[in-house]
Amino acid sequence: MQDKQTEWQISRLPSNDKTNAWNTILSKREACASLHDQINADWLVVGAGYAGLSAARRLSENCPNDRIVIVDAGVCGENASGRNSGFVIDVPHTVSSSLAQLESAHRHMRLARTATDVLANLVGANNIECDWSVDGKYQTAVTHEGSQSMLEPFAKELDALGEIYQWVGAEELAKKLGTTHFKHAIYTPGCVLMNPAALVRGLADSLPDNVSLYENTPVLKMESANGIRVTTPAGSVQAPRMILAANGFSEQFGYRTDAFYHLGLHASLTRPLNSEERAAYAVEKPWGVTPVNAFGGVTMRYTNDHRLLIRQGIKLSMGQKLSAASLEKAKSQHIKILRDRFPTIPNVELENTWSGYICMSKNSAPAFGEIAHNVWLAACQNGIGVTKGTISGLCVADFACGRENALIDDMQALGEPEKLPSRPVLEVGARALMKWEQLKNRNES
Ligand SMILES: Cc1cc2nc3c(=O)[nH]c(=O)nc-3n(C[C@H](O)[C@H](O)[C@H](O)COP(=O)(O)OP(=O)(O)OC[C@H]3O[C@@H](n4cnc5c(N)ncnc54)[C@H](O)[C@@H]3O)c2cc1C
Repeated sequence: MQDKQTEWQISRLPSNDKTNAWNTILSKREACASLHDQINADWLVVGAGYAGLSAARRLSENCPNDRIVIVDAGVCGENASGRNSGFVIDVPHTVSSSLAQLESAHRHMRLARTATDVLANLVGANNIECDWSVDGKYQTAVTHEGSQSMLEPFAKELDALGEIYQWVGAEELAKKLGTTHFKHAIYTPGCVLMNPAALVRGLADSLPDNVSLYENTPVLKMESANGIRVTTPAGSVQAPRMILAANGFSEQFGYRTDAFYHLGLHASLTRPLNSEERAAYAVEKPWGVTPVNAFGGVTMRYTNDHRLLIRQGIKLSMGQKLSAASLEKAKSQHIKILRDRFPTIPNVELENTWSGYICMSKNSAPAFGEIAHNVWLAACQNGIGVTKGTISGLCVADFACGRENALIDDMQALGEPEKLPSRPVLEVGARALMKWEQLKNRNES
């Protein structure tokens, strides 16, 4: 719970590049109007990513006569929710065989599968054209050592969880993925692949009637006397209750400042392969690949519309800002990866390269629950925010409305973010640890 402070200035705002190809390849969307008034609402939601949109929708179901206002600093499709790799992940990348951790893995999967069903229903009901497709995913190893040390334990854990999976060898992988880069993979069938910008835009554009979304409306100040009042550049919202879903920016709204660290990532999407390239590539079905080591490896996809995605490069970025030079460097690395791994299509260009940020906690626990009187939080999805953001938004809305839902227990059982070391120690330690991980797993890149 927070102290007696009643006013917070919000100085760090999201600043996303405009090169998120998932969004730029879509037809232009008219953003919702920004706020130009002093308004009252029954509920205020801050943040229109998966967490905030899911919370607002659930509030609307729980309280159909209430007025729900959701404000976002930017536009839907340009936030982390719109610029990720588009994996709707059901099975954790890695689990542990200890009993406590298996129980936690079961909770994660229960939450993730419910979120996937919720999203699938919304995609269907609202005809959201986001290439939603249950393609599964390959967890890949480049070396025999990587397979032995990381895939084999993963397989044992999937056995312990009773999950279905398949081992796939190098020859079959080469046929399915069109690259000879990988030695082994574990294929799990439940992962959905989609265009994340199209999904989050579709979710925003299909909100129920009693939800009003204001985009390009950053909260600059929050006051908590007599309910909650937030000030935006040209207006304000007064509400008795608030759900905070501002991802890594939530720490400025009175939540703990020792809970989150932020990672900056880069991703690129190619233009669609032309007909000759498709013939040379000779792979028709879309696929998604995650590496055995998240720090050293490369996430890749082949999409329904015949584009390749490369997501590579992770840096500590406490200010959630990566430089233009870092983006340029990532772009040339991504081109090199494309050329090395897909020699049969040597001329395919990148549509664009972009940066994005993920909010992490030391123990991978979410920031969830009531953080002050009538203020609830759904943030810190630890890099798996499509499902985790969706379900934490839904659960926090039920929690705030006093509605029973067994999934709230699952959320709470995941624990709270552990205290991080102070900033200089954290930065030195985290950078050293990431360098070590990258060095140790350099053959898995
Ligand atoms: C490159 C990349 C690849 C990823 N790949 C995957 C993947 O394949 N699968 C997966 O599940 N996850 C992935 N992630 C993580 C995932 O994108 C995030 O965890 C998820 O989007 C978080 O959702 P959210 O709703 O919590 O936050 P966000 O989408 O960040 O939404 C928070 C919103 O709060 C708003 N906000 C912040 N400050 C203010 C303010 N002062 N006033 C008003 N609004 C404010 C922001 O504008 C933003 O729209 C990836 C992330 C990146 C960057």
